[in-house]
Formats: sequence, structure tokens, C-alpha cells
Amino acid sequence: DYAIAARGVRKTYGGNGKSPAKEALKGVDIFVKRGTIFGLLGPNGAGKSTFINILAGLVRKSAGEVSVWGFDIDRNPRQARAALGIVPQEINMEVFFTPLEGMEIQAGLYGVPKSQRRSMEILTALGLEDKANAYVRMLSGGMKRRLLVAKAMVHSPPILILDEPTAGVDIELRKQLWEYVLKLHEQGVTIVLTTHYLEEAQELCKEIAIINHGEVVACEPTEKLISSL
Ligand code: ADP
Ligand code: ADP
Repeated sequence: DYAIAARGVRKTYGGNGKSPAKEALKGVDIFVKRGTIFGLLGPNGAGKSTFINILAGLVRKSAGEVSVWGFDIDRNPRQARAALGIVPQEINMEVFFTPLEGMEIQAGLYGVPKSQRRSMEILTALGLEDKANAYVRMLSGGMKRRLLVAKAMVHSPPILILDEPTAGVDIELRKQLWEYVLKLHEQGVTIVLTTHYLEEAQELCKEIAIINHGEVVACEPTEKLISSL
């Protein structure tokens, strides 16, 4: 079984009279194996966020079939959503809570029973144990990004998705973030990231799909893809 299986996924925005139709995804097939690190690589406007937003249940696909960890997103949306931890693109977080409070609020939103919460353990895995009770506004940019990852992991999903995780992040912080994400991968979490940097995809991902103008133009193990460029 796949972590994510998408077949013939289409998305058309607009076209309702108010705005012209825009075909953001034109029938994409994407298969992500369990336990892998998968990169969705493509330029701005290619359709990467649209794909991620469909998985997340934030955008409704126009056609096609998608299953997440074996759950069809139409028939079992809650189970599909529960299998995903999503790290959003922008840092947009409640700054008046401490990281630990933020984790507990997120756990509540996901309905994680108190007895099963591992907030402190997850914060520790992301190197934030010393900041658990600090105010979020006191955290550095790198720490805030790691806190976003921690929050995405609050319900212990098998898949972690990062949408352009290093956009606007300097090389030092990028390496640091990846160290932590790779640790989660070693613990068995399937990682999916979107990026428009070939080097980033090449360095981290075992498999890469290249998407352009809403179409998957290549989907291969990284070495194979690189050798064919
Ligand atoms: P990427 O994440 O690869 O940059 P997006 O999925 O954000 O690409 O966008 C794909 C295309 O769909 C772009 O042309 C974008 O302008 C368009 N698009 C994205 N979201 C919307 C929306 N809500 N309404 C209309 N067009 C959109
Ligand atoms: P990305 O950085 O992924 O390319 P954008 O900056 O293009 O995303 O868009 C940010 C958000 O704005 C997207 O999530 C999308 O929903 C919305 N959006 C993008 N393009 C359009 C558009 N042409 N019309 C309406 N909304 C759009």
C-alpha cells in the first residue's frame, strides 16, 4: 500500500462567471511509497500547493481519486486527514502561548486524548525542550519553524508534509531544519516536501516528481532522475 496514491487528479479554479477558469492540475498521477522521502519539485505556479491542499482537505479536487494511508479522501476524509501532519508555508502562529500550550491546543483540535499526548516528547525531538515554557515571540526564526513541525506531529501522523519548508530560510537554518526532519524520517515517518530548489530535492529526497503547468513531467528515484538531466 502507498502512503499517498493520487490518480488522474484535476483541479480547475474559477470558471464560474466571476473569474476565468484556471486549470491548476491537469490529471496528475502521484504515488508516494511508505517510509520514503518524496519531493514534489516545480516552479512557482506549477500546482504544488494545490496538490497539497487537496490532500489536506482544504481544496476540493475537480476530478480523480486520492487515498492517504489507504483512506480515500472522499469516503474517509477524517481518517485520511488524521494520517497527515502538515507544516504550512508561512509562519503564522499564535504568539501569546508558549510552545507547550500551543501543542496542547493543537492536540485538542485533533482530538488526541490527554492520556495519549506526547507534547513534551515531540518538542524534545525538535530540540525545543528548553523553550517549552517560553513565549513564542521569544523564539528565533529557526525555532519557530521547528515548532511548526512539532505542531504538525502532535497527533503522531505517519506522513509529514512540508510545503516549501525552506522558502526564505538561510542555509544554516535550512540544514538545521533538515537534520530534525531526517530524524523523524529515521523514526519511520514518511516525508513529502514541495520545493522549487532542485538541489534541495536532490539532497534529501529518495524520489522526485517534477510538476510543471499542472502536469507531472517526471517521477523517478532521485539518482535516475539526476542522471537523465
Ligand atoms: P505552486 O504551489 O506550485 O506555486 P499553486 O498550486 O499555488 O502552485 O498554483 C497553481 C496555479 O493555480 C497557479 O496558476 C495559481 O495562480 C492558480 N491558483 C492557485 N490557487 C488559486 C485559487 N484559489 N484561485 C485561482 N487560481 C489559483
Ligand atoms: P505558492 O507560493 O504556493 O505559489 P501563491 O503565492 O501563488 O502560492 O498563492 C498563495 C495562495 O493564494 C494560494 O494558496 C492560493 O490559494 C491563492 N492564489 C494563488 N493564485 C491565485 C489566483 N490566481 N487567484 C486566487 N487565489 C490565488
